[in-house]
Formats: sequence, C-alpha cells, structure tokens
Amino acid sequence: MCGFEKIIGQTQPIRILTTLLQNGNVPHALTFIGNQGIGKHTVATMFAMLCNCVGNVDAKNTNQSDSKQAITIGSIHSAPQIPNSELIYNPCGVCKVCRKIKSGNHPDIILIKPSGQFIKIEQIRDLRLIITMKPYSAKLRVVIIDDAQTMNQAAANALLKVLEEPPDRTVFILIAKNKRDLLPTITSRCQPIRFHPISLQHIEAMLMTQKNVVPEKATVLAAMSYGSFSKALSLLENDWINRRDLLIRTIWPGTVNARSVQSSAMIMALAARFARDKDNITEILDGIKSWLRDLLIYRYCPEKMINYDLIDKIHYMSEQITVGTLLEKLEAVQTAERKIRANANLRLTLDSLFMQLTR
Ligand SMILES: [Zn+2]
Repeated sequence: MCGFEKIIGQTQPIRILTTLLQNGNVPHALTFIGNQGIGKHTVATMFAMLCNCVGNVDAKNTNQSDSKQAITIGSIHSAPQIPNSELIYNPCGVCKVCRKIKSGNHPDIILIKPSGQFIKIEQIRDLRLIITMKPYSAKLRVVIIDDAQTMNQAAANALLKVLEEPPDRTVFILIAKNKRDLLPTITSRCQPIRFHPISLQHIEAMLMTQKNVVPEKATVLAAMSYGSFSKALSLLENDWINRRDLLIRTIWPGTVNARSVQSSAMIMALAARFARDKDNITEILDGIKSWLRDLLIYRYCPEKMINYDLIDKIHYMSEQITVGTLLEKLEAVQTAERKIRANANLRLTLDSLFMQLTR
C-alpha cells in the first residue's frame, strides 16, 4: 500500500500531519490517540516514508538534491516556518527509502513495542544511546512507540528525559488508545493527533469488496468491530459468527425451561473449549455482552443491534427475560472480565460465568 488516500476514515489526522510537514513545522513529539486497528501505526509508517521519500522529490526537484530538502523540527508551540512548496504529500512507496521503511529495515525509523507485557526501561535506554548519534541517512529520524501506555514507570520517566531535550532531526510518535493512559508530563510535550473509529458502513463495504463477505455477515462483523477494520478481519479469520452461534445455541437454546444434565455437560465442555482459546477470550466475552445488550435494546432501538442476523431469536428471547435479569447477567460478565484480568483460573471463571448465564 502506498498513498494516504488508501487509509480509510482518517482524513483529518492525515491532513494535520501533511500540513505540519508542508509548513516545515513538525513537532518533536506527537501522540496518535485512538482505538486499536484504525490505522494509527500505518499512518505513522507512511508519515515516516513521506518525511524521507526520495522518489517523487527527486522527480519534482531536478535541480535540487534531496539532501537540500530541509524539514524544520520545532516545538509544539514554535512559530510556523515558511512553507516549503516543493515537498510532496504522498510518499512514492517505491523508492529505496520508502521500500526500506515499509519493510521495517530503515536504520533511522525505530520501532519500540512491548517486550512481553511492558515496554521496559532497557528498551528506552537503548533508544537513548541510539539517538545520541546522528541519523545514518534519514532527513528525519522517526521513533514510533507502539502501545506507549505499556511503558512502566521507569521507562516512562526515561522517555520523559529524552523528550525534555529532544535530539535533532528526530520526531517521536507515541501510539496509544487513550491520552489519559500516558503520563501528563509526557503528553504535555507532544502534539496530540486524534484518530477516529472507521464508520460501520465503510467497514461493511470493505469486508464485502475486499474479502467477499456476504452482506448479512458483513453487517454483524462490522457492528462487532467497534470501528476497527483489523478487528473485523480478526473476527472473520477466527470464524467468529460460527463460534457465536455455537455459544448462543449452547447457553441459550431458547426453548428449554429446565436444564437437563446433558445440557450442563455441554455448557462445561464449551467452557473448557473456550478456556483453551486464551488469546480470543476478550472476543468471546465481548460477544456475550453484545448478545445481552441486543436483548436489552431490541424493544427500544432495534436499529442499534449488533447480531442483526439473529433478530427472530432476539425477538423471542427478549419476551422471555426481564431487564433486571439481563442486567444481572451483564454484571456477571463484567465480574468474569475483572477476574480474568487479575489472572484467575480461566476454566473455572468460564464454568461459573456460563452457569450464571443459563440460570
Ligand atoms: Zn519514496
């Protein structure tokens, strides 16, 4: 992929970034704030390409070598610089610099991401060492810190020291879901760029055109994606709709009043199966919440439902279950989420949750 126009739904942040570059006034540090899977990392990489591309720049400036293309780095409060009208506003994507950045092999485009659960102080110490030296070849060195909220206290304080005395020709991009998850002393030194969830219609259309998903399925996956195309893709790849159907068939067969021994055994078997699928547990719990939520809102605003393809079953069940009971079940899911976050035994937590849901 090359060209910002291929990034869906993020016109505003892209416009801000290209304008900063156009004005020769890129701040030392930026925060990219927004939900996961909506293009923040891709935009950061493209921005690094745009700042350093030598493809179209050479073509446009035959009398000028690219080394003369100055990019002024300023503080977030510095006065605007004289616009450099020669700069291009889409990377070419094919020059050697663009290709190196795209493949993650450019020595001056540095990516920091959690090592295990956290970004550790050793990683920031290594970074500090690297940035004491001049960039190898880049016009602008770009340090991208993914999941910046996972920096532990020591790492965050070490980064703060860097941001207090930022090196030349270097821009830091801190990517996080919420600004409040970062130290205020860090965010006050960064210009925030907010990314918005992608519209559900866009995601639905992309699933249909790019992945040949049938419309009914695309609507459900888009609604479950919370504005993140990568989340929608992960749901598709994990065969979410079939797993959701199995979950609902097992926990809420819909017609049985008293549970038989066999159905309890089936529920336990399902809990065991999902407990083995540890990586996707958030998806499963989100799916249960979406189902309970649909049962709650069906009577009031059915157009906001997620599992729209199961409307007949939702209609039937919403008449069998009271609002109070639904709220209790939602509370049970939230309790299970808290226990799982606190590293409780997954199998036992799901056993207990599924039994509460069937009551
Ligand atoms: Zn290029």
